[in-house]
Amino acid sequence: MSTLPTLDEEAQNRTAAVIALLAECVTTNERSAVTRVALRAEFLWRCHGCKENHYLSSDTCTCGAKRPAHLPG
Ligand SMILES: [Zn+2]
Repeated sequence: MSTLPTLDEEAQNRTAAVIALLAECVTTNERSAVTRVALRAEFLWRCHGCKENHYLSSDTCTCGAKRPAHLPG
């Protein structure tokens, strides 16, 4: 039995972390900094088509684009 989280759990953990960090942001600058870091760390994903940011817990963008396959979720 592995103690590593499944990909699905990992996506949920990352999503919860981003939500918690964003909840502590007071200014727009703070929010954009957290978002930028979260994207870089792959705690969020960005749709290349419409440049929208998404939590790992969401499988598809509103435009229909899929979450990149190498990310957990
Ligand atoms: Zn999109």
